[in-house]
Amino acid sequence: MVEIQIIEKTDEFMRFIVSGVNTPFANALRRIMLTEVPTMAIDEIVILENSSILNDEILAHRMGLIPIKTDLDSYVLPEECKCESELGCNLCRANLTLEAEATDKTMTVYSGELKPENPDIAPVSDKIPIVKLAPEQRVNLEAYARLGKGTKHAKWQPVSMCTYVYMPKVKIDPKSCNTCGKCVKVCPEEIFVETAEGIKTQNEIECTLCMDCVDACPQDPKAVEISWDDKTYIFKIESTGALPVERIVTEAVKILDKKVSDFSDQLKKGKQK
Ligand SMILES: [Zn+2]
Repeated sequence: MVEIQIIEKTDEFMRFIVSGVNTPFANALRRIMLTEVPTMAIDEIVILENSSILNDEILAHRMGLIPIKTDLDSYVLPEECKCESELGCNLCRANLTLEAEATDKTMTVYSGELKPENPDIAPVSDKIPIVKLAPEQRVNLEAYARLGKGTKHAKWQPVSMCTYVYMPKVKIDPKSCNTCGKCVKVCPEEIFVETAEGIKTQNEIECTLCMDCVDACPQDPKAVEISWDDKTYIFKIESTGALPVERIVTEAVKILDKKVSDFSDQLKKGKQK
């Protein structure tokens, strides 16, 4: 049975333990989070004026990489939108504008100066530098943000980190341990503690499987044994800020679920022929 235990959770970061699954499942979930959960990103730019030192293409590329707050409930992917228009409509496109001019001294234009038409579809941070303008240089443009997937371009990835590791298992054999304390000193994660009853372990979940404790143990056979549980995974996910991290996970599960049910439907159809 699958069990989930959440260790840490904020809007941007989540760490949880999943037990009762295998590597293909954990990896499918990771890859869907990376490449298939849709997010908003600036996809097209109309440059009305650009006298900065960055040429139009570089400016457009930089704007594309700004994480944009995403509203998955109000917008649809352009390829799934009923409008079928190349330009898009209010359901598949969000407009932002940028107008900046340096008057008497050099200035930096930040993402906060992008003015969204819909305040829910705005840059995640106001402090991302876009371009520097020297006196009398101007930038005036319209930007269109659309939903997209990481499979097409990394700018549509909702996560800046999405990893999993096996659950570590740290065991001390009290019979062969002579409480020399070498493992206590060498462990970078401070997993071992010296107590009156001998060496004990704490926060095993932090173990990075570096094996320094095993190398440091002078006993033969070794008193410390490091292994891992290949049915339990520790996931670490960090959002770019476009979507709350919990939403990214639930969307990924929905996508995986849909893939499986589509497969099963197709299989039933195939049988009838
Ligand atoms: Zn549309």
